[in-house]
Amino acid sequence: MNAAVIRPAAQNRDDAPAAGSPETSHIEAAIAELKVLLGDRVSTVAAVRERHGQDESWHPPHPPHAVVFAGSTDEVSRIAKICTRHSAPMIPFGAGTSLEGNIAALHGGVCIDLGGMNRVIEVNTQDMDVRVEAGVTRKQLNAHVKDSGLFFPVDPGADATIGGMAATRASGTTTVRYGTMRDNVLGLTVILADGNVVRVGTRARKSAAGFDLTRLLIGSEGTLGIITEVQLRLYSIPEAITAAICSFPTLENAVAAVIQTIHMGIPVARIELLDALEMRAVNLFSRLDYPERPTLFFEFHGSPAGAAEQAETVGEIVRDQGVANFQWAIRPEDRNRLWEARHNALYAARALRAGAKVMITDVCVPISALARCILDTRTDIDASRLVAPIVGHVGDGNFHVLIVVMPDDTDEIGRAMALNDRLVARALAAGGTCTGEHGVGYGKIDYLQQEQGEAIALMRAIKQALDPHGLMNPGKVFRSGTQLL
Ligand SMILES: Cc1cc2nc3c(=O)[nH]c(=O)nc-3n(C[C@H](O)[C@H](O)[C@H](O)COP(=O)(O)OP(=O)(O)OC[C@H]3O[C@@H](n4cnc5c(N)ncnc54)[C@H](O)[C@@H]3O)c2cc1C
Repeated sequence: MNAAVIRPAAQNRDDAPAAGSPETSHIEAAIAELKVLLGDRVSTVAAVRERHGQDESWHPPHPPHAVVFAGSTDEVSRIAKICTRHSAPMIPFGAGTSLEGNIAALHGGVCIDLGGMNRVIEVNTQDMDVRVEAGVTRKQLNAHVKDSGLFFPVDPGADATIGGMAATRASGTTTVRYGTMRDNVLGLTVILADGNVVRVGTRARKSAAGFDLTRLLIGSEGTLGIITEVQLRLYSIPEAITAAICSFPTLENAVAAVIQTIHMGIPVARIELLDALEMRAVNLFSRLDYPERPTLFFEFHGSPAGAAEQAETVGEIVRDQGVANFQWAIRPEDRNRLWEARHNALYAARALRAGAKVMITDVCVPISALARCILDTRTDIDASRLVAPIVGHVGDGNFHVLIVVMPDDTDEIGRAMALNDRLVARALAAGGTCTGEHGVGYGKIDYLQQEQGEAIALMRAIKQALDPHGLMNPGKVFRSGTQLL
C-alpha cells in the first residue's frame, strides 16, 4: 500500500450515489419493499445509518442507505431475496466492533443488523456444544452456559456477536490454548445472496464429508453469505484459574520468556504482552499503578495442582529473564480487573492524546520470528516519531502496534501508514500474515494482495460462484471484476 495520506477515492463513500439520486432508485425500491416486510424495523434515520457505517477504527464512516433489523433466518432469507431482486448491496452487521472498515457501506445499500437475533437455541451439555443465533454476543453466551459448568473461550476483548466473530475468523487472548473461531465452529446456517438457506457442518467433532464449506465461510466477512445460526464447541470451566502479571527489564526479555514458554509446551491459557508505553496508557486509563515496563499478563487453567505447576514452571522462566516476582490475581474480581485493563488497551492508547484515533496493525508471524519482528518494529516506531504502543497475543505470534494519530495531521498519518507498510513487509518476509485476527475489510486489501498473490484469483472465482452480482458486502477483502467490486 502506498503511504498516501487519505484513502483512495474509490474506497470512500463520498463517491457513492446519494439517496434520492437516479442512481439509487433501485436501492430506494428495495427499501420500500423491505418496509412492507419489516415495518418500523427498517430505518433510514441518519443517526442509525451513521452508527451502522462506523466501526471502532480510524477509518472514516460510510453509512448505508437503510438499516434493517432482522428477527429470524426466514426473515434474512426474504431480505436477501428483495435486495437481490433490486440489486441493492447487503452489509451484514453484528456489533460493529471490527477494525478494518469491514462494515463500511462503500457502495451504500442495506445494512442487515443481526443483533436482535440473540437466542441461544440449544445447549447440549453432554456433548459440550451449543447452537446460537448469530446476534448472541460472547458475554451473553457465557452468562447463559455458566450454570452448566461450561464456557465458550474465544475472547476478542470487545463484546462482539458470534456471527461477527465467525465472519471475521476472530480470536483473542485465549487462542494460545483454545484456538480461534476456525477451531471452535462446528456448523453454520447461512443465507446466500439469492436468499437460499444453506446448512453447513454438523455437530460431530470431525468430518471428512466433502468440501469444508464451514471453514470457507468463516472469515469471509459477509462477502459470501449472511450467517444466521452458529453451532459452537464449549469447554468445561477449569477447576482452578489463576492470573498473574510480571514486568521485565526489557522488551527482549519479555519476548524471550514468551518463546520459551511456548517451546516448553506449557499449556498457558493466556499470555499477553504490553510494552512500557502501553502500561503507562493502561495505568492512566484504568487508574492502576503497575510498573511501566514491558509486561506479560498470564492466565493458567487446570486442576489446582496443574495450574500451580504451570505457574511454577513459568515462574522459573521469567526469573531467568530478570523478573523478581509475579503479581497474582487469584480472586475472580481481581482477575476481572486485570483482564478488563488488558481489554481496554485500545481505548487506553487512544486516551494518550486527546482527540486522537488509533490506526491498529495486526501482523502474525511464526514464533521463531517473533522477537526479531517486535524488536525491529519498536526501533522503527521510534525512528518514525510516532506515539505507538505495542500489545499482543504473543503466544500465537500475533501483535498489534496501536498507532495513535491525530486525524487532521496528514504528515503524521502518512508516517503511520508507511510504518504499517514496513511492518507488514517484515511479517510477510518472515512467513507471516498481514492480519492475525481483524480481517481484511477494505483497510488491508492491498496487503492481502501482497500476501496471497495468485490465490486471490481463486478467491474471486469462489466469490463469483456464490455472489455473481457482487452484492454481498461489496468492496471488501479483495477487488473484483464483478459489478460492484
Ligand atoms: C477493543 C477491541 C478489541 C478487539 N480485540 C480483538 C481481538 O483480540 N481479536 C479479534 O479477532 N478481534 C478483535 N477486535 C475486533 C472485533 O471485535 C472482531 O473483528 C469481531 O469479531 C467483530 O464482531 P462484530 O459482531 O462486532 O462484527 P461487525 O463489526 O458487526 O462485523 C464484522 C464483519 O463481519 C460481517 N458480519 C457481521 N455479522 C455477520 C453475520 N451474521 N454474517 C455474515 N457476516 C457478518 C460484517 O459484514 C463485517 O464484514 C477488537 C475490537 C475492539 C473494539
